[in-house]
Amino acid sequence: MAEGHGMGGGVGGNGSVDVVVVGAGPAGSAAATTLARAGRSVILLDRAAFPRDKPCGDLIGARALAWARCLGVAEADLAPYPPLVGALVAADGGAVDLAPRSALGRASLRGSDARVIPRLVFDAALVRAAERAGAELRRCTVREVGPWRGGPDGGREVTGVGPDGPVRLQARAVVAAGGYGCRVAAGIAPAPAAASGHPSGGGVGLAEPPRGIAMRGYFRGVDAPAGRIAFCLNGWVLPGYGWVFPLPDGGANVGVGTLVRGGAGEREHLRRLYERFVDDPASPAAGWLAGASADGEPRSWPLDLGPRRRRLAADGLLVAGEAGALVGPLTGAGIAFALDTGARAGEALATALAAGDLREPALRPYARAVRRRFLPWLRAEGVAQRWLTDPDHLRALLAAVRPLPPAAPLGARLLLHLG
Ligand SMILES: Cc1cc2nc3c(=O)[nH]c(=O)nc-3n(C[C@H](O)[C@H](O)[C@H](O)COP(=O)(O)OP(=O)(O)OC[C@H]3O[C@@H](n4cnc5c(N)ncnc54)[C@H](O)[C@@H]3O)c2cc1C
Repeated sequence: MAEGHGMGGGVGGNGSVDVVVVGAGPAGSAAATTLARAGRSVILLDRAAFPRDKPCGDLIGARALAWARCLGVAEADLAPYPPLVGALVAADGGAVDLAPRSALGRASLRGSDARVIPRLVFDAALVRAAERAGAELRRCTVREVGPWRGGPDGGREVTGVGPDGPVRLQARAVVAAGGYGCRVAAGIAPAPAAASGHPSGGGVGLAEPPRGIAMRGYFRGVDAPAGRIAFCLNGWVLPGYGWVFPLPDGGANVGVGTLVRGGAGEREHLRRLYERFVDDPASPAAGWLAGASADGEPRSWPLDLGPRRRRLAADGLLVAGEAGALVGPLTGAGIAFALDTGARAGEALATALAAGDLREPALRPYARAVRRRFLPWLRAEGVAQRWLTDPDHLRALLAAVRPLPPAAPLGARLLLHLG
């Protein structure tokens, strides 16, 4: 480590630090925890005050929950949200209940601990875990991440605005984890098209999928199947789906997501889909929501579905989570990808800091590892998404799996592990 750059603990006011992490969502918290555990000084910046809401289905899949535990999230934070026991899929051809009934089926779901936990709660628990590990959380809207002139090779200067005025921090490296539209990640040159499949390009993806947009609201007094996440794939909501995800005490997170290609009227289209999903008596959700009451206004947010041509590594900078378009194009799930790539980015920077080399070639293995691990997955989801957009395919699939006894445990396991 270069002299004069602190190790362990934070820095007062503006100043220098080993790593600045931009964005305290799952990707940023995972990176901050990993770096702090490696003994590095880390400042975790977010424009929002925590706890903060993030429009989401709140489905913390089995992979994401396993990561959260690895990162030190306290069991007491998870305890109020019971493990899911299965899933229900409704489409024009009818519904299929994927909750295993036999003891053997239920046993096969051991190790598939997935829960619905509001992001207001889950993300705050991740941030607390990062703070316990030694990271320092600060409120700041980051405007720019430029080179640190006169600093070490690869060093970065982060400027932004906090509640008390301008913020200027110098860091040996930065993790860009600002989620959808992250301006720090967008600030580095995109991977050239020809190089996107090349490790040195550092990007993820080749053919780019459409973007996603989703709207969700909270309800009380919901009469949905207990302990099951419910997906609705009726023809009118394709390409996309509606969901009802149960929360304790009869609450539920209810939403609709769809694909968009840019252009006017997308938000209005989404709102119409959402209203039809919750109100139309022919919608499966409307039955479960009869007698339920909305808990606040619904919120919408875009999704950077992968794979996309994005550079994930530059001098002194790594991109993690949705800032790198690491979101499944079939499900819209991005929390597990965010936690995984955040932790990997933290490990990669801890190694590079120990070796004293933060230039792009030394950070390239991170981009390569992320590509190797996630590109096949994102592509497979893209293929499945296109196939399932045809209602006839869905009808045939549901008819085929409904009578098969292993369909419930296998289907539930698959759906609980998608995020
Ligand atoms: C409606 C909806 C439903 C979804 N449902 C699910 C689901 O059920 N399960 C699932 O796995 N995924 C779901 N997703 C996807 C998931 O929400 C994201 O992929 C995930 O949050 C990505 O995590 P992240 O840490 O990369 O980014 P984020 O969670 O978006 O966190 C980014 C953070 O960076 C901060 N930030 C941004 N810019 C700046 C800046 N300039 N300066 C400082 N701070 C900044 C933001 O305030 C934010 O806190 C859903 C998405 C939507 C829109």
